[in-house]
Amino acid sequence: MPNKKFPLTREQVEDLSRRWPTPFHIYDEAAIIANVKKLQAAFAWTEFKEFFAVKATPNPFIMKMLHRVGVGADCSSLPELLLAEKVGITGEEIMFTSNDTPAEEFRKAKELGAIINFDDLSHLPFYEKEVGPLPELVCFRYNPGPAKAGNLIIGKPEEAKYGFTRDQLFTGYRYCRDKGVKRFGLHTMVASNELDSGYFVETAEILFRLVIELSRELGITFEFVNLGGGIGIPYRPEEEPVDLEKTGAAIREKYDEIIVSGGQPPLKLYLECGRMVTGPYGWLVTRARHLKKTYKNYLGVDATMANLMRPALYGAYHHITVLGKENEPTTETYDVTGSLCENNDKFAIDRKLPPVEPGDLLVIHDAGAHGHAMGFNYNGKLRSAELLLRPDGEIIEIRRAETIADHFATLDFEKLEEF
Ligand SMILES: *Cc1c(COP(=O)(O)O)cnc(C)c1O
Repeated sequence: MPNKKFPLTREQVEDLSRRWPTPFHIYDEAAIIANVKKLQAAFAWTEFKEFFAVKATPNPFIMKMLHRVGVGADCSSLPELLLAEKVGITGEEIMFTSNDTPAEEFRKAKELGAIINFDDLSHLPFYEKEVGPLPELVCFRYNPGPAKAGNLIIGKPEEAKYGFTRDQLFTGYRYCRDKGVKRFGLHTMVASNELDSGYFVETAEILFRLVIELSRELGITFEFVNLGGGIGIPYRPEEEPVDLEKTGAAIREKYDEIIVSGGQPPLKLYLECGRMVTGPYGWLVTRARHLKKTYKNYLGVDATMANLMRPALYGAYHHITVLGKENEPTTETYDVTGSLCENNDKFAIDRKLPPVEPGDLLVIHDAGAHGHAMGFNYNGKLRSAELLLRPDGEIIEIRRAETIADHFATLDFEKLEEF
């Protein structure tokens, strides 16, 4: 079976673990930057911008290194907006794509000058009442409903809570036009972890055609379309990544055919990918603790689903390698488990691995997005540190591990004494 890459040796990780005990997440800066540059190159035929979906890896160091190469931020909550602000990402380098949005989040987005991507028609009067006049640039999230097939993580578009129906788009843009809004964008996000590049080409085609129809019917001009995120990554070693260059070229064909031939003014193209930017270049490093044989073989490690919940949440596959044993035959079959009192707390079920000893270091691959970010504190589990491998080989801490004191910070033990 083809193997997956990890940039450090077992000796290097042993060394690291003296300073940062396992488990920890580690990201590879050079690989992330090279990857995002590939994405930018694939769309260099038009004015393009990637807005990194902050929720995937909400770490300001990651956001800052991406911002250095021109990547903005896709935020969907107040803390994510605050992170962008701390990093120095403001104005139209922020796409604010939220749903069921509280007034204070709209207010913060407005204060930062973010592009506001409305999720529903009713949010327009809500915004006017709670925040003020509509923003100068307005974007709507489109939900194509039955017009587009869904995929496993996000489900069928017509079952999804997000976005405007087609008719509502016409109503909404007309409403904004009549209120004096002059700048417009159109957004959709209908897939998650999609490896079929045809899916993105089809999405672009749907949006390009809609731009033409909306522009003609309403006499408005669109500045951009935002194809959302959702580009998948090859979690399984035998899968192939999306060919970005080919996808970019195929979208360009649709652009020429629909937008250019339709006599439309140039449209900027935006993406808000999270997973494909950082996912493959982040790893969860954990140590084998106990081996247990009952009805099955259990390999207990010191990480839990509190560090990476995708396997428990979606039954997602994450490849695992045992450091220093990468080339040994995979003669054993293990359930790789954490220590939560929750039988779902497994990183892998019936996984073929080489024989593992307590103390061995394991690397769980493709944990760079929706990994640490989904962490939680059930059973009093503490979230681990995040480390960054710099391009010069230095390793820095970009988030310390939580402590028991952090965990108890919201409890008042003095009050308990008097209780
Ligand atoms: C989650 C999300 C993204 C990022 O999705 P990825 O699968 O990480 O690329 C982008 N936009 C919106 C609105 C999202 O909810």
